[in-house]
Amino acid sequence: MTDLQGRHALVTGGGSGIGLAIAQALRGAGAEVTITGRREDVLRQAAERIGAHAQVMDVTDEHSVVEGTRSAVQARGPVRICIANAGIAEGRAIPKTDMEFWRRIMSTNLDGAFVTVREALRSMQGESDDWGRVIAISSIAGIRGLRGAGAYTASKHGVIGLIRALSEDHLGRGITFNAICPGYVETDIITRNVASIRERAGVSADEALGLMVEANRHKRLIGAEEVASAALWLCGNGAGSVNGQTIEIAGGQA
Ligand code: NDP
Repeated sequence: MTDLQGRHALVTGGGSGIGLAIAQALRGAGAEVTITGRREDVLRQAAERIGAHAQVMDVTDEHSVVEGTRSAVQARGPVRICIANAGIAEGRAIPKTDMEFWRRIMSTNLDGAFVTVREALRSMQGESDDWGRVIAISSIAGIRGLRGAGAYTASKHGVIGLIRALSEDHLGRGITFNAICPGYVETDIITRNVASIRERAGVSADEALGLMVEANRHKRLIGAEEVASAALWLCGNGAGSVNGQTIEIAGGQA
């Protein structure tokens, strides 16, 4: 069983969906967990439920991430596990993508992952035992193109590039960098996707959901806890040689 006793984990977007499932799994393994996000009420409720700490933080705002990480470190000690999970998923064909939309997706999914990981690393690197885990939640859209979602696809490819570069920068050290690439996972993003597909494709809610189920190779939605098990495994000492990898959780090859 993975033992993370005494390790401080920072999970961005930890108040809901995949982030919350990962935070819960890390808590279960004994880690001190700080969950972050913009909605204070959602965060506090989630934190109370799983015995984590809540830190309001907007990943699109560098100052907010720097200060939020500093507060979390002051309260719980250096970050040893960083889960860069906060993200938004919105599809729009490139000819219809304006600069405002492009920047919104990039600043959350890519800039947000960059600044979160940078701050966590600064905290990790001061530790003498040289142990750390950095996991970014990318997507199958980080591996192949997702139709009608150019900005999202580019942002999630970028996250994988960041993780691969970091894994090269830290070779031979005890800090590993990996990306998890899920297919469609049953969270609020799916609910929002159904509404957007309905609008764009003029189909019913059931048909919109069916399109996402069909896209997963095993023809079912994935549970957030399935993504959390992979994250928990990556955090264990048994995965200490897994570095710079992408783990697809999509029922088959993406
Ligand atoms: P949720 O919408 O439940 O989670 C997204 C989380 O990100 C929320 O907790 C939200 O909190 C947080 N967040 C969004 N924007 C910001 C911001 N600017 N600053 C801080 N936090 C922010 O959906 P999921 O759990 O599904 O998504 C988690 C990650 O998984 C995302 O990166 C998504 O792209 C990825 N993913 C999801 C898939 C799916 O099918 N569900 C498939 C593949 C990847 P708040 O609103 O309070 O800020």
